[in-house]
Amino acid sequence: MKSKKLTINIVIALVAGIIIGSIGDIYADTSLVKGVDQYFFNTVGQIFLNLIFMLVVPVVFVSIVLGVVGVGDPKLLGGIGLKTLVFFLCTTAIAITIAIVLALIVKPGAGHSDLMKSTEVASYQKTLDKQSEGAEAPANQTFDQTLINLFPKNPIESMTQGNMLQVITFSIFIGIGMMVLGDKALIVRQFFEQFNEILMYIISMIMRVFAPIGTFCLVAHAFTGAGLGAIKQLGLYFIVVLAALILHFFLIYGGTIKFIAKDSPIKFFKGFIPAITIGFGGSSSNAALPVSMECTKKMGVRPAIASFVQPLGATINMDGTAIMQGVATVFIAQISGAQLTILQILTVIVIAVIASIGTAGVPGVGLIMLAMVLTAVDLNPAAIGIIIGIDRLLDMTRTAVNITGDAACAFMISKQEDRKAVSS
Ligand code: ASP
Repeated sequence: MKSKKLTINIVIALVAGIIIGSIGDIYADTSLVKGVDQYFFNTVGQIFLNLIFMLVVPVVFVSIVLGVVGVGDPKLLGGIGLKTLVFFLCTTAIAITIAIVLALIVKPGAGHSDLMKSTEVASYQKTLDKQSEGAEAPANQTFDQTLINLFPKNPIESMTQGNMLQVITFSIFIGIGMMVLGDKALIVRQFFEQFNEILMYIISMIMRVFAPIGTFCLVAHAFTGAGLGAIKQLGLYFIVVLAALILHFFLIYGGTIKFIAKDSPIKFFKGFIPAITIGFGGSSSNAALPVSMECTKKMGVRPAIASFVQPLGATINMDGTAIMQGVATVFIAQISGAQLTILQILTVIVIAVIASIGTAGVPGVGLIMLAMVLTAVDLNPAAIGIIIGIDRLLDMTRTAVNITGDAACAFMISKQEDRKAVSS
């Protein structure tokens, strides 16, 4: 009952944030709105996000260790791991295909060739030039380097830098060690279990006290600075991304829950609302992770599976991001007057799936990784400058989709394990 009331309050806060923020955007130049935005919306919103971020590294570490131990059998762990990876890769490929097909049909970039000459392109070109002069941009990282970087030299450094893939690798090793050693590592295991209890308590406390006001402020801040007017010019691009996100959300995740997990999609989506709003408000899969795991566990997902699948998903599974990249690539090709060949479209699908794995679950990274996709099909990455202005709102929406994909995967695998347990 309590959690239902909290969910309703968060949804009210979200809607109020959109309305107040949109009004604020009209008067964004006045000092009153600037002051309220800076000292209230932004400050409270950031405090709320920091409170959640504070828990992300410990939650990922502890959850994955306990998830691995909880699965209890290295073979079963391998099976779950494989299923998770296959689900992540397939849904991301489907997501980008939906996006590309929709963009090819609607042609959001048709008749906008003037955009390529805009100042946004020139100024983003300067940013790219500066980047290539300095340190290697993440989008330019080679495949072998990405592979090497999965393995941390110093796990403490990985934690302080928030390098989630390395934290996950380290956690899996600790978990396997703990699982194989069994009672010999009992005290450490109990320590992790109790630490997990503490973290879960802190999360629910933060949610109870801060979630409605924090969500309101985050959303109001995002909308106040969003420059909603800019949406008009890029309206069709915006609508196609949104439509593809919505299609993917309901068809693919709803279908997964209904036909593979054999459960009610409505119940699933409803139970996941608190996480969706945090993902939306914070534009970060990582920040939403503690809440999204709490939601799925409440829906009956086995804790070991939620703890293993969702942190992995928050780091490597970004269907919403792939959707934005698919539409953006077609859009940029259209405004550049380029015709994408079938081979180029297939290249976009493959590269976007890889980019999605490399995209960190924090705000805005999807747009940086888009440079990698554009370069692969000979489009000018400086065109990102055109869509950057409205990306914040799309980032919020795609993050909500990203984390729902992780949750749907955990839900599906957990239900399948439940059925296996009943039939054996
Ligand atoms: N903000 C997204 C996430 O955290 C990543 C992105 O697309 O920029 O899931």
